[in-house]
Amino acid sequence: MANNEDLLKKIIAHAKEYGFVFQSSEIYDGLSAVYDYAQNGSELKKNIRDYWWKAMVQMHENIVGIDSSIFMHPTVWKASGHVDAFNDPMIDNKDSKKRYRADVLVEDHMAKIEAKIDKEVAKAAKRFGDAFNEEEFKSTNPRVLANIEKIEGIKNRLYPAMENNDMDAFKNLIEDLEIACPMSGSKNWTEVRQFNLMFSTNMGATAEGATEIFLRPETAQGIFVNYLNVQKTGRMKIPFGIAQTGKAFRNEIVARQFIFRMREFEQMEMQFFVRPGEEMKWYEYWKDQRMKWHTSLGIPAEKFRFHDHDKLAHYANAAADIEFDFPMGFKELEGIHSRTDFDLSAHEKHSGKKLRYHDPELNQSYVPYVVETSIGLDRMFLAVMSNAYTEEELEDGNSRVVMKLPPVLAPYKVAIFPLTKKDGLPDKAREIMDNLKYDHMCFYEEKDAIGKRYRRHDAIGTPYCITVDHQTLEDNTVTIRERDSMKQERIAIDKISGVVSEGLKVRH
Ligand code: ATP
Repeated sequence: MANNEDLLKKIIAHAKEYGFVFQSSEIYDGLSAVYDYAQNGSELKKNIRDYWWKAMVQMHENIVGIDSSIFMHPTVWKASGHVDAFNDPMIDNKDSKKRYRADVLVEDHMAKIEAKIDKEVAKAAKRFGDAFNEEEFKSTNPRVLANIEKIEGIKNRLYPAMENNDMDAFKNLIEDLEIACPMSGSKNWTEVRQFNLMFSTNMGATAEGATEIFLRPETAQGIFVNYLNVQKTGRMKIPFGIAQTGKAFRNEIVARQFIFRMREFEQMEMQFFVRPGEEMKWYEYWKDQRMKWHTSLGIPAEKFRFHDHDKLAHYANAAADIEFDFPMGFKELEGIHSRTDFDLSAHEKHSGKKLRYHDPELNQSYVPYVVETSIGLDRMFLAVMSNAYTEEELEDGNSRVVMKLPPVLAPYKVAIFPLTKKDGLPDKAREIMDNLKYDHMCFYEEKDAIGKRYRRHDAIGTPYCITVDHQTLEDNTVTIRERDSMKQERIAIDKISGVVSEGLKVRH
């Protein structure tokens, strides 16, 4: 497991220097946990979004997309449970004045105990060599057993506290575990308080007549309230899905780790409507499909893992996260949830409108069950960036930073360089670019030596660089250089588009 704050710092600096991500309102010293995507970042983000959309909508006949509003009727959030239950427990340390999520403090404490167990296991594995049996060791070693018991004991108090929104139980747990503030080391804590994560604003012209409305904290509800409209107008038959990408807003208590946890972020969600009783089959199907989507990008499989939830939200009967090995360690990237008929039934109740589906095969009407896949676009962006960031020592003694982005996601696919600014080379290079740009995002550059231009494009992850030289004028060939191998080849101009398209293909 990587735990490399240094790597995260490098990625943040690189993202700024090469036009991927800027702090929002930077000239005013920024706005906490809000970021802007810059010229290269917005391309990369769009490509991730498109890649998701293609996999979900284009590749599935029974999935369609929508684009619903950020503002919704306030009762939507009452029905969904967000008004009453979308809270995080927060606690302040009186000495450092730092604010924490109470559940996260306890979880971090458990992770430390977990790390002790891992260390013990690693030590024993080394000592016993091939003969080591991890299961046996874990079930017999007294120190490991004591720590496992400790963790179980904590979970038995934490989960009921979360379930019952019992703030005193959180406080007692933090005190009993003697958890100290990571900043000040002090155990001088305030009470634990509930904090609703939804942002609100007022709609309407006058203060008296205005209605308080919320900025959506998830895109899913826009799908639920439109489900019957889509089903009817699209003549969709169960099982079918509705996909959507868009902004969501959460007033996170502790927002850090760059674009991992933001207050304004983007989600890519798909709700799949199924027959009651068939949800587990689809839940397994979507777990498998979503993992395949991640690895199809060529990111190593060992960077992903499933984390099945022990503790389920009241509306779910199964839930798992796909975690990614971020520079901060394995963390949630995507959630796959079997949400039963919780949302649609709640909307039936609050709206007084029937949201039933008539199943022609069963000749029955029912409220469908829902399996959802929900991924944060910004977290995927960070996953892709952290996997791609590579520092390389080259054979000639130089070094380079290269973003080994999956070519299909790279902001630019081809950079085109005339060798010099003279002898008609720029005109020829522009002519090539004018033909290529219909098919691919191209970048034209004539400034600096070729080597420097290569470095600049390595740093933003451009998979191909084309150099136009004097020979090009004679025989219509160019050199094409591949980013990762740095291999150069001479090819005919009319072959460029094909070579690039081939390189962008995703291999499953
Ligand atoms: P976490 O436990 O990290 O707060 P969550 O379980 O609340 O996340 P969901 O409500 O399941 O998250 O949202 C689905 C996805 O949206 C997450 O897997 C994550 O990728 C993304 N996401 C959620 N909150 C944020 C945020 N504040 N910033 C960026 N992405 C987010």
